[in-house]
Amino acid sequence: QSKPQARVDGSTGVTFADVAGIEIAVEELQELVKYLKNPELFDKMGIKPPHGVLLEGPPGCGKTLVAKAIAGEAGVPFYQMAGSEFVEVLVGVGSARIRDLFKRAKVNKPSVIFIDEIDALATRRQGIFSDKTDDLYNAATQERETTLNQLLIELDGFDTGKGVIFLGATNRKDLLDPALLRPGRFDRKIRIRPPNAKGRLEILQVHARKVKLSESVDLSVFAQNLPGWSGARLAQLLQEAALVAVRNKHKSILQSDVAEAVDRLTVGPKRVALDLG
Ligand code: ATP
Repeated sequence: QSKPQARVDGSTGVTFADVAGIEIAVEELQELVKYLKNPELFDKMGIKPPHGVLLEGPPGCGKTLVAKAIAGEAGVPFYQMAGSEFVEVLVGVGSARIRDLFKRAKVNKPSVIFIDEIDALATRRQGIFSDKTDDLYNAATQERETTLNQLLIELDGFDTGKGVIFLGATNRKDLLDPALLRPGRFDRKIRIRPPNAKGRLEILQVHARKVKLSESVDLSVFAQNLPGWSGARLAQLLQEAALVAVRNKHKSILQSDVAEAVDRLTVGPKRVALDLG
């Protein structure tokens, strides 16, 4: 039985400057950062600490990035696990992992706990064992509920573990157990939407800092013409463009290299580059 443990980042090094094109209340995030920097101050002022924050939105649009930026801005450790890592048929394993995760984060508070795909542990999934016996299905369902209960217990006990912020991410909020959404658990919800053209340009600009882009490249052409592309895909585009530029023996990435990269990511490798420029 493997024992996944939270991946810990001493300091994520990610800041809000790395996050682009998301129109969310930065003040709301700043408040969490302020809290993590000085939980005692909130305590002295009688301000109730935030319990959990749910980041909700489609894949690849920056939920993990925002979570890392909160920890990075505050300079506190970041404990990351995926919801699926808590899902085991063996009784008690998931809840033990939850306990262990919160215990470790509390020892090193102030800190941030982040569970990605939280729907995997916080919902009753039906039919996954439909080809197996009912006993197995029931055991899996029961185990998942025990794990969820443990998470609820940990969240309810947050007053005693001041200085820890719990962040969860999902692209299926509709699947979440309503108990998790009650006040005192996920009391804040931040919706992260796919970027619009302006957002896509800002995301491309952030990632352009990491590669060698020719000054002649006009990224707005790509931002305008790639509707529906997520931040993750746009980041991948510039990485691909860098590879194309190397293959084309260019000293820096040219407009035609980015266009060829769009082509490669859209329809796979091609000999003739699409001319978007
Ligand atoms: P998933 O639901 O698939 O876990 P996610 O919403 O958590 O997706 P991230 O893991 O944060 O997405 O994004 C993947 C990568 O894409 C980031 O590390 C970053 O390089 C890039 N990216 C995504 N969104 C943005 C953004 N808004 N600004 C800058 N970069 C972004």
